[in-house]
Amino acid sequence: MNSSMIGKIEKAHRYAREPERVRLSCVEAIFQGSHDAYQIRLKDGHWTCSCHTFSSHAVGTCSHVMALQHMLAEMLPNSLRYDIDAETPMAASGTTG
Ligand SMILES: [Zn+2]
Repeated sequence: MNSSMIGKIEKAHRYAREPERVRLSCVEAIFQGSHDAYQIRLKDGHWTCSCHTFSSHAVGTCSHVMALQHMLAEMLPNSLRYDIDAETPMAASGTTG
């Protein structure tokens, strides 16, 4: 291995410990829930999940999306993140009421 490749690998190791450098613009994932697997997508600034909760509630989130947002927290802008440690949901623009 040449020295420039070694340098790149060292830099990659450093970067890998700094997830805040990364901003995810889209995500597509299969989430294995307790009973079933669900398809989660982040596209054009909106999350979707194929589970029943997501489609039947107007809140625009579900436990799968929230869990994934938590896993990816440092790579998501605040607007695409629901802080599950906070008591109240962050006010999302576009909610009614
Ligand atoms: Zn879901």
